This record gives sequence, C-alpha cells and structure tokens, in this order.
Amino acid sequence: MPDWLMMRLPMITTAMFVFAVGACVGSLINVLVYRMPRGLDVVTPTSRCPSCGTKLTWRENIPILGWIFLRGRCRFCRAKISPEYPIVEAIVAVLFGGTFVLWYMVPPETTVLGVPVGSIAPEWAHNGAARTWPAFVVLATMIGCLVAMTIIDARTCTIPLILTWIPAAAALVLHVGHALWFEHRFGTLEPIMPGLWAAERLRWNTAPGEVWTLATGGLQNWRFVGMGIGGVVGLGVANLLLAKGLITRSFADYAEWESETLARRDTPAAIESVATSQSDPAHRNDSPTDLWVQYPHARREMVRELAFLAPAVIGTLIGGWAGSKLGGAMVPDAHGQGVPAHAVPLWLAVLGGVLMGYLIGGGLVWAVRIGGTLAFGKEAMGLGDVHLMAAVGACLGWIDPTIAFFGAAFVGVAWAILAALAGGRLNRAMPYGPFLAIATLLVLVFKPVIEIWLGHLFSSPGPLNLP
Ligand SMILES: [Zn+2]
Repeated sequence: MPDWLMMRLPMITTAMFVFAVGACVGSLINVLVYRMPRGLDVVTPTSRCPSCGTKLTWRENIPILGWIFLRGRCRFCRAKISPEYPIVEAIVAVLFGGTFVLWYMVPPETTVLGVPVGSIAPEWAHNGAARTWPAFVVLATMIGCLVAMTIIDARTCTIPLILTWIPAAAALVLHVGHALWFEHRFGTLEPIMPGLWAAERLRWNTAPGEVWTLATGGLQNWRFVGMGIGGVVGLGVANLLLAKGLITRSFADYAEWESETLARRDTPAAIESVATSQSDPAHRNDSPTDLWVQYPHARREMVRELAFLAPAVIGTLIGGWAGSKLGGAMVPDAHGQGVPAHAVPLWLAVLGGVLMGYLIGGGLVWAVRIGGTLAFGKEAMGLGDVHLMAAVGACLGWIDPTIAFFGAAFVGVAWAILAALAGGRLNRAMPYGPFLAIATLLVLVFKPVIEIWLGHLFSSPGPLNLP
C-alpha cells in the first residue's frame, strides 16, 4: 500500500463511517416523515410493507441497499416501494459524508474545475476533526433535522417542533461542552494575530475576529453574553406566564373557528359549489391549509404575541446592561484600545453565541411575522419557521440564519420559476420552511461567495470573513 494512502486511511475510514451514519439517519428520517404526521409511534413497530404488512428482514432494512436488493418491490405482495426511501437515505448520506470530506479532508488551496472547493470549509475546520468533532456533530444533527422538517413541512404545512428542539439542545450541550473540554485540555486562548490563537498546548484557527466554531461576541463582549442569557431567561418567564394563564396563547380559538367555518360550508349548496371548484385543483378553497388565511383575527392575535415577547425584550435589555458591568473597569490593551479588565471565559462566550444565535435567528422571523401580519391582516410566516431559524442560530451562531433568512426569498423565487416551467406538476403554494432550510444549506456551501458579495456590498477592502 502506498504511503499517502496509509496516512489517509484513518480519515477515509472515518468519512465512510460518517457516510454510513448519514444513510442510517436518512432511514430514520423516512420513518419520522411517515409516522410523525400520522401521530404513530416513532420507535416501537418494526418496518413493514405499507400494503400487506409483511415485516422487513434485516437485509431489506439496510439503507439504500435494501431497496436495490428488493428492486423497489415488496418481497411478499410485489407492491411498489417508493424510490423516495433510498433517495432520502442517499441525500442525507451525501450531505453528511460530503460535509465531512469538505470540512476535514480537502486541503484549503484545492480547486476543482476552477471552483475553489477548498475554501468552502470554515476556518475552524482547519483545526482538524479530532479537535472540532463536537461542532461537526451539531452541524450534522442540524442537517438531518432540516431534511426531515423540509419533507414534513412541504407535505403537511406544519413543522414538528421537536425537530427544532433537538438541534437547539445539541448546540447548547455540545458547543458549550466543547469549549469547557478545550480549555481544560489545552489551556486558555490568547490572540496571536487575527484568526490565529494560541492555547498553552496548540494553535487554534478561526475566522478573523472570531474565537470559536460559531459566531460569538468574542472574549471581550460581556454585553453580548448578558443579552443572550437575559433574553432566554425572558423567554422562560413568558412561557411561565403562559402556563399560569397570565398571558394567553395566540390563535387559541383558531380550531374552534375553523370547525365552525367548515360546518357552515357543509350545507348542500356549499358542498356542491366546493365539488365543482375542486375539479380544478388550483382553485380549491376548502382545505384547512387555505382556510387559515381567511381567519379574521390575525391582527388581534399579534398583540398577544407581542405580550409574550415583552419579557424577552426586557430580559435582553437588563441582561445587556448587567453584562456590561461584569467585565470590570475598562483598561487599555497592547494597542491602547479600551478592553474590560476581565476577559469573558471561553465557555461563557460560546454560551452567549448559542443563545444570541437562537434569539436573533428566531427573532428575525418573528419580527417579520408580526410586521407582515399587522400589515396584511393575515398570518405571515408560521411559528414553526420561528423555531426553525432559532435552532439554526443556536447551531451556527447569529450570522448564518440572518443571511439564510434573506436568501430564502431568492430560493422561493427560484422555486416559483421552476414551478412555472414545470407547469402543473409543481404548481402549488409551498410553505416557507423548506425555503429557509434550503437557504441554510446553501449558506453553508456558498459562504466564500457570500463573503465576497458582502465585501462589495459594505465596500470593505476584501471579502468579509464570517465565522
Ligand atoms: Zn407487501
């Protein structure tokens, strides 16, 4: 075996393992997508043929290969098995494996057909998989949940909130745990030059101006940490007030209004008019997904949501003020600039990054939801979209969901053009969640291009460096 292959063998094996894990996660997503909207138990029943109920053998349960092995048909009743199953498994496997290869195995200066694929990986990935794997696990968890959410949202126009809480919780535990482990193992970070840090036992690469694997406020910004903690405590207070009945849930009477409206329509004349209009699928107006835009009290409900958000806003303000007091008096650093006397501990800076990402990612969507609903009188963007971008912010920091949020509008336009070109086949209203999810994945891959664009936009001398 040649030396170069021997040297790379552990990484190649790991990449294949990550690919296989991706295929298994894809398989799990197939189960979730089928069972969650139907309210079925996700864990207990083993996989069966949907037509005849025959249990799958372990060989037929192998992701991707099982479907090929069966040639897309049930062994027992010969019913067709949708190719969607192996396709989803392959997509997640490629997303996991491809991210691992791009992040950890492609040297930074690599170009393929003139495309600088080596610069897709964020700077922190140059520290290697052994030192940054918790950040990669957070990323993979987020990608898997985004794929599951996209499929469920496109079909049912709802996002199961558990799929947003899993990546947010993973980000909180793994990002902060990663920072604690790092300082314990390698010592405190000291800046050498922009983007390069030294701990006692190693050098640590980051985007210039950044310290960690997600956007934080840095090691001097106590206000940023305080705002993050204060805002999330405020959200906790708001949920407590909700549970105690001191504030009320928005759209609480929606289900009642919907069933009344549907009942009114069930008069014979209404059924007939619906039946005729239903022959043209583009003009259906009786389905609950279309009904919600007719709900008359959307503006009033936004006042309830503003009341829910008030404690979070107050918490952010108090937290920011309290945080700015924690660093002590300002002292001049080596360049004569004023810095707080005490640096922010790394784990606390990372915690601030996770919490502020959660608040800004979710807050941006919520602000547009409230503004849009007040302006147009019908519900604009779902609360599921708020949870989705909050989770993305917790995993990646506040910058990526901000870019993805604006990018999602372009993805939506691209979808509309595609749907127009494809004629009737794609021509239906998509919820906004899939656009947000796809935009997030695009931000991950096209960050170098986005950095160049933003550099032009803010007329900075070079590309803006994002963490
Ligand atoms: Zn069957």
